[in-house]
Amino acid sequence: MFEKILIANRGEIAIRIMRTCRKLKVKTVAVYSDADARSLHVREADEAVHIGPAPSISSYLVHEKIVKAAVDSGCQAIHPGYGFLSENAKFSAAVAQAGLTFIGPSAEVIAALGDKISAKNIAMKAGVPVVLGHNLPIVDIEEIRALAGEIGYPVLLKPAAGGGGRGMRMVATPSELESALQSAQEETRKAFGDNRIFLERFISSPRHIEIQIIADKHGNVVSLGERECSIQRRYQKVIEEAPSLAVDRSLRSRMGEMACALAREVGYSNAGTVEFIMDGHRNFFFMEMNTRLQVEHPVTEMVTSLDLVELQLRVASGEKLPITQKDVSIKGWSIEARICAEDSSRNFLPSTGLITRYSNLKGRNVRLDSGVEAGSFIGVYYDSLLSKVISWGETREEARTTLINALNRYHIEGVTTNVNFANSILNHPAFIKGELSTGFIEEHYEEGEAKIDPPIEQLEAMVLATTVMYHNRMNLVRESLKPMAAKVGLSHRPAQLHRYVVKELKNIFDVELQGQLSSRDWKVKVNGKEFAVVTPVFEFYRRRLKLSINGVNQYFRLQYRQNFIWTAYCGISRIFEIYTPREWALAQYMPKEAKGAAENVLLSPLPGMVVNILVKKGDRVYRGQDLVVIESMKMESGVSSPCEGVVDNVIATVGKAVETDEVLITFTT
Ligand code: ADP
Ligand code: ADP
Ligand code: MG
Repeated sequence: MFEKILIANRGEIAIRIMRTCRKLKVKTVAVYSDADARSLHVREADEAVHIGPAPSISSYLVHEKIVKAAVDSGCQAIHPGYGFLSENAKFSAAVAQAGLTFIGPSAEVIAALGDKISAKNIAMKAGVPVVLGHNLPIVDIEEIRALAGEIGYPVLLKPAAGGGGRGMRMVATPSELESALQSAQEETRKAFGDNRIFLERFISSPRHIEIQIIADKHGNVVSLGERECSIQRRYQKVIEEAPSLAVDRSLRSRMGEMACALAREVGYSNAGTVEFIMDGHRNFFFMEMNTRLQVEHPVTEMVTSLDLVELQLRVASGEKLPITQKDVSIKGWSIEARICAEDSSRNFLPSTGLITRYSNLKGRNVRLDSGVEAGSFIGVYYDSLLSKVISWGETREEARTTLINALNRYHIEGVTTNVNFANSILNHPAFIKGELSTGFIEEHYEEGEAKIDPPIEQLEAMVLATTVMYHNRMNLVRESLKPMAAKVGLSHRPAQLHRYVVKELKNIFDVELQGQLSSRDWKVKVNGKEFAVVTPVFEFYRRRLKLSINGVNQYFRLQYRQNFIWTAYCGISRIFEIYTPREWALAQYMPKEAKGAAENVLLSPLPGMVVNILVKKGDRVYRGQDLVVIESMKMESGVSSPCEGVVDNVIATVGKAVETDEVLITFTT
């Protein structure tokens, strides 16, 4: 085993790798850019080396700096994590050249599998079914037009060098083909420095099923079961689980054998993932192989009780795999939610900011792989993945409930995250039934909100929690202001009845609380429905509230502002207004709020860099038309017009950084 390794990554994955290193008594060296000088991954490592300015192109992606840091600090190996240099053949070669071990496959194997066109050819050679398509880079548009016609629309344009879902374009009709090809080439050239695009049949509403394998340098390959990653946005995974409802024992072993055959075909060693797409008839087709540790590897670890990073380190250091195929068994169920700094209501735009409050998660069968803490600054330079919350249960239903409870108490303040969005998916009836497909989010969500109303029981629970907290806070403040003497005998008062009117959007709830401040037991009625509630003792000043409702523990997150309280639970978030009956009667006479902000300016919805301006002064624009393109967190986002009108003034400049709510364009309407 190695004595010391360098981890060429940051965030949650760097910390995850360090955890195993500590267990194996392997020393770790972190690398960091200017932006990460005070990051968690730097503090968790035994040593840390500064490798340059914030943009990854000048730090985390510079081969020479990383190899030098490893050599200078006396490391024997480099673990690349995922993303960054993990699937970079030249880097793997450079590491070997310096006399170090790359914890991953050889340069030749990465090159052969990292290129999707070449990988598809290898898969075919290994007898693995592939998606029908044109397995060469597109050069002649007329030839492709004819071919797409034969395959049948919709078709998918895919970058040969792709990754992270970038550069893919679904093309529904022949007329869109040419412009889609251009924009796909443009995006992949920027992202990967390679503009080769190939073509595949687009399989509608498929499932994404992938097989985890591990292979050593002695020709042993073992498959570790499947993961289902069908819940995606922008072709990127949000929720993953293992095993999959769509895979039974015989399919599992068939897919596993194919994945192993593919690995053997190229002489693979390392952990690796073979990704398949599965149609409605359980036909599966090879998509790509990822030659690295995957973001969602924890769900496999939870159901196999294996440590994938440990296995990676062992095989990289030349050891034989400590397990054979018959040692692998799948126990229970595991689900992971990827927590990202992004705004689900704004087409998953990345968000930035300082994390001002952060609650760690603990609990039975809950695992948190996090790269952040209170005080972390989420900037524009890196991926928006903050952490992953993973649960385990005997059954899928148990794993699901455990994860929901965990997300209900996972509080991150300061940046917009998808915690509620992920939680909402876990609560969706189609998810519960296991009706999954890569089109799930598009089908069931609009602007980050489920198209169906949440169950009334969940709303009632939120009303209950919000009112109990409001009542206790108001009265604890009042009590604390009274002179000490008056407090004596407080607990001997009979349980009083308190009435409130709670307003949420158009819904009005009548709430009755019966209990007293000194006691934890309350009887609560919401619109006449009765609940037995047990509260914690003095926990009403926190952002998180734990209540036992009819004997079951529930967690809520609440943020308090006078009569307004924001509450989140099971993926639902609402703003409640709480009134006493007397206040409610008076509130009816209050003037209505004035209409909001002016609509004749285009504001930047996020911080980033202006990379394109699509209109000029005098142009007529329509609501929803993209006007400006902003790059942030490795992604380009179009900013669309809020109104119809004529461009009055273009204030944004290409190449200039902008902040949230900075004026980009003004209009006359
Ligand atoms: P997984 O299959 O593990 O989800 P993804 O393909 O989503 O992997 O990529 C994992 C992470 O690495 C993502 O955060 C993605 O943005 C990033 N990534 C993937 N490929 C590349 C690449 N070629 N260059 C830079 N980052 C990449
Ligand atoms: P990446 O390297 O970006 O992860 P993949 O080839 O793994 O690229 O594809 C990412 C996602 O795109 C898949 O998980 C799936 O949702 C979708 N996808 C890929 N190929 C097809 C296809 N032929 N038909 C429909 N969807 C596809
Ligand atoms: Mg993929």
